[in-house]
Amino acid sequence: MTADPECLFCKIIAGEIPAEILHSTERTVAFRDINPQAPLHVLVVPRDHAPNAAASAEAGPEMFAEIAVTARAIATAEGYDDHRLVFNTGAGVGQTVFHTHGHVLAGRSMTWPPG
Ligand code: AMP
Ligand code: ZN
Repeated sequence: MTADPECLFCKIIAGEIPAEILHSTERTVAFRDINPQAPLHVLVVPRDHAPNAAASAEAGPEMFAEIAVTARAIATAEGYDDHRLVFNTGAGVGQTVFHTHGHVLAGRSMTWPPG
């Protein structure tokens, strides 16, 4: 496993910072976003540190599939038929934590395109 000692999400994965974990496998951890933007707002995070989704996919393309399947499983388990899965890539589009994470959002109507 690769970890960055300075990375917030690596610290959550290591259990050094608390989070409400909903789902955990050998490869991924999913926890509630601390500042939810919808009734359901969960982050699905690979255990291996990489700065963004494309970098994780380069390291192992199956990670993308696992995040998508996990996102749907969490939304379904929480009672939502529909969800939005978002990967911000780069500070210019709002990425603030540079450890790959898919935002799983559900439970309210959403506009397109996203703001
Ligand atoms: P992004 O802006 O796409 O990089 O998303 C980072 C997300 O991490 C934001 O939605 C934050 O609200 C969330 N976040 C920051 N700190 C924590 C934390 N300690 N626990 C859970 N979520 C967090
Ligand atoms: Zn990390």
